[in-house]
Amino acid sequence: MRLGIDLGGTKIAFGLLDEDGKILYFEKIETEKDKGYDHVKEKILDTVIRVLSINRVKIEDLTGIGIACAGQIDVKTGIIKFSPNLKWENVPIGKDIESFFSVRTFVENDVNAATYGEWKFSFGGKPENVIGVFLGTGVGGGIIADRKLFRGSGFGGEIGHMILNPRGYPCNCGSRGCFEAFCGGDYIIGRVKRLLDEGYVGKIGRLLTDGEPLKVSHVEKAYYLGDRAVKGIWEEVIEYLGCALTNIANIFNPDLIIVGGGVIKGSKKLLKEAKKIVEQRAMPESKRNLIIEASTLGDAAAILGVAFLS
Ligand SMILES: [Zn+2]
Repeated sequence: MRLGIDLGGTKIAFGLLDEDGKILYFEKIETEKDKGYDHVKEKILDTVIRVLSINRVKIEDLTGIGIACAGQIDVKTGIIKFSPNLKWENVPIGKDIESFFSVRTFVENDVNAATYGEWKFSFGGKPENVIGVFLGTGVGGGIIADRKLFRGSGFGGEIGHMILNPRGYPCNCGSRGCFEAFCGGDYIIGRVKRLLDEGYVGKIGRLLTDGEPLKVSHVEKAYYLGDRAVKGIWEEVIEYLGCALTNIANIFNPDLIIVGGGVIKGSKKLLKEAKKIVEQRAMPESKRNLIIEASTLGDAAAILGVAFLS
């Protein structure tokens, strides 16, 4: 049996899995990251003990614990080097959990884990070269080369910070014009929100009922209703996603690009439109056998991936 933990900025998800990747138990708790690392670590330890006890699983029955976390992770030491989501630096979470339970604990970047999970469980681990692109609040990427997770010298795969336009929008990484700054959910919402804050109503304003938070699904809907200000914003998202996928196809010539995350889930036609751009722009051999598919595992991808990487 394995335990996968997805440590996010707002929630921590726990999944108890059998050796076939079947989820036997799933639970989510609040992260409470503002209370600091020690508090979050104690919450994780308590929850693991509780999850095992509810399911009558002994700690010795676990073959491994995997922790997926956004940010730059040193997988050799299990140290979270830098997590902008959690605002942590140099946190030895892998060692702390491993020494408490005496169970092998593996820490991995959440998008690497999700890419691995999708590859292994949605595609049976068959495609040789796979790129995962996850458009959530930001944009993360994972690379599987020759059926192995590729990390470069340790921290590779940051597809979201591929610069698509050197004079583009500022990015949270400190650069500007990154793929993330064009296609990350928070950035798209931020641009539309600014319009609304300036008093613009249009179709988008009328889609929002009292107090409803603005979502990517509203933005796409307003675009297809012909909202004049949203038009430029959403066209840009389609175009930049299409170009990013084209770059990936030309550079890596993968068999498969898996595209997931809240922006994809929240939109109906975004991926289809972006694929048209890949069709127009990628070089013939780069796209000949390329499959681009939406992820299917959702939140479970990172948990499954990290549990089986461990
Ligand atoms: Zn960036």
